Amino acid sequence: MSSRTDRLARSGARNTSLVALASLTIAVVTSGCVPDDDATDDGIVETAHLRITTTTDNPICAGTAPFLESEVLRIAEALELPLWAEDDKLDVRFGEDSVAEVCADSEYEHLNGCLRRTGSDFVVASIEVAYTSSHELVHAVRAKNGLWSATMFEEGLAEVASGSNGFPVYVRYPHGEPSVGPVELLGIPRSEFEPVYYIPSESFISWLWETYGQSTLMAFMNDRALSNTDSILSHFEDHFGQTLAEADQAWAIDERPDPSWGAPCVPERTYSLADGPLELSGDFDCREPTVYGAAYFMSLWPMCLDVTDNTRVAISFEAEHGELQVLGREPCDAGPAGAEAYRDKWVKAGNMLEEDIAGCRYRMLVSSQEPGFPATPYTIRIEEIDP
Ligand SMILES: [Zn+2]
Repeated sequence: MSSRTDRLARSGARNTSLVALASLTIAVVTSGCVPDDDATDDGIVETAHLRITTTTDNPICAGTAPFLESEVLRIAEALELPLWAEDDKLDVRFGEDSVAEVCADSEYEHLNGCLRRTGSDFVVASIEVAYTSSHELVHAVRAKNGLWSATMFEEGLAEVASGSNGFPVYVRYPHGEPSVGPVELLGIPRSEFEPVYYIPSESFISWLWETYGQSTLMAFMNDRALSNTDSILSHFEDHFGQTLAEADQAWAIDERPDPSWGAPCVPERTYSLADGPLELSGDFDCREPTVYGAAYFMSLWPMCLDVTDNTRVAISFEAEHGELQVLGREPCDAGPAGAEAYRDKWVKAGNMLEEDIAGCRYRMLVSSQEPGFPATPYTIRIEEIDP
């Protein structure tokens, strides 16, 4: 299961304790599209291991299939598990209607996606391409290998392993602050495992991965004896050489910095203001492999912007639709600068924004919810201006 709550909670995670995250309210992504029941009759896109469809009126953009196929290969390797045969394609269905249909048995509203068994096989439903479908693909790779353990371990691993280069998952360690720990999480039944529990779950799995290494973690996760929930504690001790309670305490006070899974920035899509004014232009066209999306958003591959010193910038985004976001998602202390310098920047198509910006690294995302995903030329300009 994946839920909007944990995704949004993560994006708001800066300077917030794990406990405070538990109280974040749920925001709902709205859609500008009208569902079309006939849309699944055509527009099927197949890769070696996936069969991708959408229930929205929007097309499946050209970057979607190669991204998801590379994700399922990456995930299987990370999980140290084999993939299914290429003639046995996993159904991946996009759109809110797909999620409503496939995940109808869920206890929670506002699901982003789920994995469900249908007869002898599995189906992934997801409202969006990035993050959510990768999270569900982690569940799928494990389920198709006959593996399933406690909810805390499954959801924590799905979160951590959904991070990829350009699509990072930022994890927070408690660093001594109060948090729901793995001992408590293990006692929460699946039906009561609310989305806020994903955050400490991914934190603990991340900690196990960093502390013991990938192979030790995967040997534990891939141990078929874990499906017997009564023996999880003894198997944990067998694999990690300490009890879950001991690991809980060590995780809670670990002083290592918060990790991210998947590189936040891909070098060939990272730009620096130190090189002078930035100007990027091209076609924002769903038919191009540089664009992904299958439901509400069409998006360019994520980019990054390095700002070396606190300064003031003019940011413009020329296009017929869509928006540009410049998001601070990493810890950054660039010295004295006002709140404006540190806040996220949002520029709608056709607009220009002048704001202070702190000397940090930012994620730059371009996306559009324009119905039908029509192509538009775009130009992004970011330049320093006099304060
Ligand atoms: Zn999940």
